[in-house]
Amino acid sequence: MATKVSIPEFEATALDAIPGIASTARDTFRTHKTKTLEWRQTQLRKLYWALHDYQPQIMVALQQDLRKSDFEALLTEIDWLKKDCMFMLDNLEKYAKDEKLGSPDVPTTYSFMKFRVKKDPLGAVLIIGPYNFPFQLLLAPLIGAIGAGCTVVMKPSELTPVCAMVIKDLVETRLDTSAIHVVNGAIPETNALMNEKWDKVFFTGSAAVGTIIAKKAAETLTPVVLELGGKNPAFVTKNANLALAAKRLLWGKTTNAGQICLSQNYVLIEKDLVPTFITFLNQAYKDMFPNGAKASPDLGRIVNQRHFQRLKKMLDDTKGKIVMGGGMDESENFIEPTAVLVDSVDDSMMQEESFGPIFSIYPVNSLDEALNTAPLVHRTPLSLFAFGSKVENQRILNEMTSGGATINDAYFHASVNTVPFGGVGDSGWGAYRGKASFDAFTHFRTVSETPAWAEKLIAVRYIPFDMSKYKI
Ligand code: NAD
Repeated sequence: MATKVSIPEFEATALDAIPGIASTARDTFRTHKTKTLEWRQTQLRKLYWALHDYQPQIMVALQQDLRKSDFEALLTEIDWLKKDCMFMLDNLEKYAKDEKLGSPDVPTTYSFMKFRVKKDPLGAVLIIGPYNFPFQLLLAPLIGAIGAGCTVVMKPSELTPVCAMVIKDLVETRLDTSAIHVVNGAIPETNALMNEKWDKVFFTGSAAVGTIIAKKAAETLTPVVLELGGKNPAFVTKNANLALAAKRLLWGKTTNAGQICLSQNYVLIEKDLVPTFITFLNQAYKDMFPNGAKASPDLGRIVNQRHFQRLKKMLDDTKGKIVMGGGMDESENFIEPTAVLVDSVDDSMMQEESFGPIFSIYPVNSLDEALNTAPLVHRTPLSLFAFGSKVENQRILNEMTSGGATINDAYFHASVNTVPFGGVGDSGWGAYRGKASFDAFTHFRTVSETPAWAEKLIAVRYIPFDMSKYKI
């Protein structure tokens, strides 16, 4: 790292400027310029090169806001987004093309007519981002919105202010500012944005704020995508490779210091396996952090004091026993990857989304008990992880709902930028990534065409009706 870059101080967008920014996005959409393939491709190419050129600023910003390592900055933010731009560019013509409909979608009775699905951009859209992956979770939806031909206003999280300013600078210096805007700020600015009329709101964040957004959007019948959190279970049975399960689940809690919506909140594991599992967890910990987690330059920090205190309280309130980690240092918002052995679903460690490097281990007598317990913690979590035999894994998938699922690993179903990702029930509505990103911002508009010469074929529909000619 150590590159010298200058990033402006965080500044919230003036509240009275927000209506003008929203109306510019709506007005630009009405010029139809963002609908051309050329505009979309140009913006995606410009975004790709902006990400390339801004790499030093992005790395510094992630380091300052989250102490995110350069390795993670590249893997989960910069290169992730560059691949996303390339994927959308490679597939855009195919996605944007009208789809002709014929048999069997259109019955042969209507074969004299033409049916197609036209892919229309939804219009002016608002994207609201969370703090944990400040670039990826704001700009990946942007790539979908540009691909679809929308105009966009983005609201980065104020909890990562350096990143927010880099995003604003990158957008304003590199992209078409008549169509793509950044509003910086917190609740008042988000409220001002939500007072505007949008054609879609794409929100990533907590369920509590998602509820506020969805309620407000409902007042104007504005569709929303909600990418929320969840208390995600991991299931470990006697047929699992225990050492691998321990290592991979620990990995799931180290990315971004566990501030990742997808990682496990708790592990449901058969009782007899618990001592060995804990031994393997501690072994994996030693392999990853030979000098202790605090000394590792690769482990990030908790974003701020509020979130540090929230995690500390979960650990203070637990009636469980810490079986790995447990260290913390308030002066640098450091929390050690920590596992807590608990014996009640009412424990603080089971009741709250951890969204940090801490998780619980909950012993069960059987897979039956595990499958009865998980819905008590969260009926529709964002993800689940199954470490069992083939038959057990399939049973877990069949009997427990989740937004996505990974077999034999932590959160890998969401580690590939081209496959759909989203929650279900109260962990989210809608999906994006890959083609789903294009679809999320597109209206699939069915168009039919009735030829003038077909009058005789459709004569039966005109009043006065003749029952003797009725057939279906
Ligand atoms: P958050 O809900 O606090 O904030 C998200 C956004 O909403 C921010 O831009 C913030 O400024 C804005 N906001 C906050 N309070 C608001 C209010 N009262 N009214 C209007 N706007 C408000 O989320 P966060 O703390 O940034 O992120 C953590 C949460 O996000 C966790 O619950 C996590 O599981 C979830 N998350 C989900 C995904 C996903 O893809 N499903 C990804 C990352 C994070």
